[in-house]
Amino acid sequence: MHRYQHILITLNYANAAQHVVAKAQQLTQAYQAQLSLVHVLDDIAMPDTTYGTCIALDKVTDYQALEHEKQRLLNAAASIGISQQNCWLIWGAPQQEILRLAERLQVDLIVVGAHKSHGLGFLLGSTADSLLHHAKCDILAVHLED
Ligand code: AMP
Repeated sequence: MHRYQHILITLNYANAAQHVVAKAQQLTQAYQAQLSLVHVLDDIAMPDTTYGTCIALDKVTDYQALEHEKQRLLNAAASIGISQQNCWLIWGAPQQEILRLAERLQVDLIVVGAHKSHGLGFLLGSTADSLLHHAKCDILAVHLED
């Protein structure tokens, strides 16, 4: 039987669901896997490019919005029991950056919240759909309440 070794939770705050995180935690325990957390910033402008796309969580910046995002992610990580070194804040397009990070960390399972497909959402696609079609590793798409 395949044992997952490294599981990545993708988190956005608009639809951050406890049961999505809980599933990832259960699998992490069952497989004794490593658990990482990522949030991709796609809605704040970056003040400069010295950070690259990957934002250091252990350095103080003088950019207020970024400090706020760092703290928000670290709080979420702490509540899940994930340490800072397994926590990633990246600036860019969510699907692209999640895939890039998953390959870099050699993640073998990505956990993502998924809306039931209907209406315009079906036509426009979603983060879960995109990951499912492009990821090299497995995807666990956990239904979100619509
Ligand atoms: P969406 O397709 O934007 O409605 O989001 C569905 C799921 O995709 C969320 O529950 C997260 O698991 C993931 N996701 C969406 N946006 C982001 C983001 N900016 N950073 C990390 N994960 C995200």
